[in-house]
Amino acid sequence: MTSQEIRQQFLDFFKSKEHLIVPSAPIVLKDDPTLMFSNSGMTQFKDYFLGYKEPKSHRIADTQKCLRVSGKHNDLDDVGRDTYHHTMFEMLGNWSFGNYFKKEAIDWAWELLTEVYKIPKENLYVTIFEGDEKENLERDNEAYNFWKTHIAEDRIINGNKKDNFWEMGESGPCGPCSEIHVDLRTAEEKAKISGLELVNNDHPQVVEIWNLVFMQYNRKADGSLENLPAKHIDTGMGFERLCMALQQKSSNYDTDVFTPLIAKVEELSGKKYTGILEDEKDIAIRVVVDHIRAVSFAIADGQLPSNGGAGYVIRRILRRAISYSYRFLGMKEPFLFELVAVLKNQMGAFFPEIVKQEKLVTEVIKEEENSFLKTIEHGLVRLDHIIKETISKNEKVLPGAEVFELYDTYGFPADLSRIIAEEKQLTVDEKGFDEEMEKQKQRSKKSSAQKVYDWEVVAELPENFVGYDKTEKEVKITRYRKVENKDGEFYQIVLNETPFYPEGGGQVGDKGTLENNEGTFEVLETKKENGLVISLIKDLPQNISGNFTAKVNISDRKNTQANHSVTHLLHEALREVLGTHVEQKGSYVGPDYLRFDFSHFSKMNEEELALVEEKVNAKIKENLPLQEYRDLPIAEATEKGAMMLFGEKYGDKVRMIQFGSSKELCGGTHVKSTGEIGHFKIIAESSTAAGIRRIEAISGDKATEYFKNLEHQLKEVSSLLKSKDLVKSIEKLLEENATLKSEVEALKKEKAKGEINDWKNAFVQKGDKQLLVKRTSLDAGSVKDLVFQLKKEIPNSVTIIISDAGEKPMITVGISADLEAKYHAGNIVKELAKEIQGGGGGNPGFATAGGKNLAGIENALNKAMEI
Ligand code: ATP
Ligand code: MG
Repeated sequence: MTSQEIRQQFLDFFKSKEHLIVPSAPIVLKDDPTLMFSNSGMTQFKDYFLGYKEPKSHRIADTQKCLRVSGKHNDLDDVGRDTYHHTMFEMLGNWSFGNYFKKEAIDWAWELLTEVYKIPKENLYVTIFEGDEKENLERDNEAYNFWKTHIAEDRIINGNKKDNFWEMGESGPCGPCSEIHVDLRTAEEKAKISGLELVNNDHPQVVEIWNLVFMQYNRKADGSLENLPAKHIDTGMGFERLCMALQQKSSNYDTDVFTPLIAKVEELSGKKYTGILEDEKDIAIRVVVDHIRAVSFAIADGQLPSNGGAGYVIRRILRRAISYSYRFLGMKEPFLFELVAVLKNQMGAFFPEIVKQEKLVTEVIKEEENSFLKTIEHGLVRLDHIIKETISKNEKVLPGAEVFELYDTYGFPADLSRIIAEEKQLTVDEKGFDEEMEKQKQRSKKSSAQKVYDWEVVAELPENFVGYDKTEKEVKITRYRKVENKDGEFYQIVLNETPFYPEGGGQVGDKGTLENNEGTFEVLETKKENGLVISLIKDLPQNISGNFTAKVNISDRKNTQANHSVTHLLHEALREVLGTHVEQKGSYVGPDYLRFDFSHFSKMNEEELALVEEKVNAKIKENLPLQEYRDLPIAEATEKGAMMLFGEKYGDKVRMIQFGSSKELCGGTHVKSTGEIGHFKIIAESSTAAGIRRIEAISGDKATEYFKNLEHQLKEVSSLLKSKDLVKSIEKLLEENATLKSEVEALKKEKAKGEINDWKNAFVQKGDKQLLVKRTSLDAGSVKDLVFQLKKEIPNSVTIIISDAGEKPMITVGISADLEAKYHAGNIVKELAKEIQGGGGGNPGFATAGGKNLAGIENALNKAMEI
């Protein structure tokens, strides 16, 4: 059975059990401050479990792209070294939201594995939660009894809290779980040791494939547990491991999920994959084919490699792949980007984003490879220096702090330092390295640590956002919680009807005030967490349950929405001028300016920029009214031709913003008609990454200000020039300047010509040679010409000229060809340069040196005479 069929059968099976099949959410999360990537199937359903949102069906199944490279789940170090942990993998899952519970979850899992997929029952083991005294939790006998109806009791294993009690985070839904493990060893091996002993023991062929979580508790911030009002099922099965079991392989990498990628790496590197666990070349190949998937899907879902946050995690994964292939596959040129096409062929049918974004993904990876390979080359030079220093001190251990600096500041892989050190019979001071690493971790922890307390509910009221229609509203606080971070103590509050727009879709969150008879409470920021709109205030009002007037800062909001609406017009104009490959890749929309990143492969020229500006300003002039469609079914929006972006997670109902022919799905706030934007002006165009351009622009008041400033500058210039026709005046100035310059040049030449005869006469016989040592204030160019002329015309001559034109002294040495074997101009100049605190060099016949110390000229002259 192919992997495609295996995936489809899973979905079909749960469809037959009345589950709604939904697509995978993007791998990159945008609305969750606690998590950067989807790291399990349940991530996209968190709101349902927390009760913030109603699920669209009480039974759902899907396959979810997951990434486990940071935070609670981080498998990165194992990837490549074992055969069943990946950075990106697909998690097949079925969910019940307050619908079925343990019995159905267990029955169906068993039915699917043994009857549909036909895994022999004697290859399966299951685990259940054994209970935990400290938590006052008893053994999960319920699950035990359901399992007992399917599987021999001696195959049901007790598991502890670490393996068999699942928690969403520090607080939130949690509960016992049951894992299903499969034993893929040969009969012979099984006869030697029972699989029972190998479950949960890191054996590569006795692995966990499916985890069934029974959510029945809620953990509060103080650590205590309470029963959940509605119980849920959350299951996750590793797709690649399932393929290994069903295709009877002993490694995930031997399934058709990976073999086409491995074949391509073999072709490009000329190295053969032999599947050996400890073989460095095989590890490198596994790393490469694993990481290319993670990086490609992250980029396709909108996360470009960058220097911070989620982008940095992606960059590090890619660099890990580059560094392994550099070291163990001998790949010193970019090649990973060539794997993207293979990945597309293989996964594109189910995940269209990789087809649509192929070009961008390929370009970005290639550029990242290029720049990191350069980093490696530079790092090698630095490392060489560190090694030489160590050896010169007769030591055998490279300082940990320096190796860490190389890694941390320059991005040079520490493993690479270790290997190169070993080749020179040296080691790295690992303790010192770890200490630096720990210090660094503490530093970043300190700056981001935030303690969040439990929500205190003030009023059980619906919590809605009303900011599309209102910027001022009578409101009540529904809940609040304390947060502590490095800036102090604050309170997060939620309102029943909040006019404050939460940061999102590139648009900054609203600021403003909450007012009651106690006074005015400043709203410092507004953000969204899962489904909630949360505003931040410094102090909590006394009368927390009373009424407040919420007021949005109007001038900021107005400028911001002008900038937001104009990004839509800009997006459309760019697609008209440059082509429909242009797609938004990120934006910032604030009251001061806007930034718009989009896919495009070359720098925009002046005409293109002017044309885009013109088109946008034409739409502003047309004063197109805002047409806003709230709760539009997604199918209808598609039909109307709305722009949809890959990597965005759209619900079934969407909001569409239309200005004339521009139609975008958007949650932001907008002007009532485009005339409010006033004017649009691009102030910069640049590149942020391969294949991504960035436009920075202003509108409204800021644009007016910009033109006022320009006008002011022009007025100043024209008063300086005492002229109204600036272009003509400046042309005249430039012309005059050019004439003067050439006159000066001619004069200098004249002067030098006059001097050469004096110089020729000044040579004195010194031993076997004619020597001239002279100080002059001629410029460097003239001195050079003269010295060349002298060394040609005077045989047996050494010419040393020290010039003091300008601020800095300069020494020029010329030696006639017949003496070059005896004297070396370069060496002489070096010696003399010491006197003027300078440096330089050249060949035996001609050399120059610049210096800093004018006062040293006399000494240099004396020294020259000695020589
Ligand atoms: P393991 O102990 O093997 O790391 P886990 O306990 O971390 O697994 P869960 O969080 O329960 O796994 O995830 C559910 C399923 O997802 C697992 O049963 C496994 O099949 C799969 N899985 C988990 N992590 C990975 C990974 N890094 N690569 C591939 N599949 C994975
Ligand atoms: Mg794990």
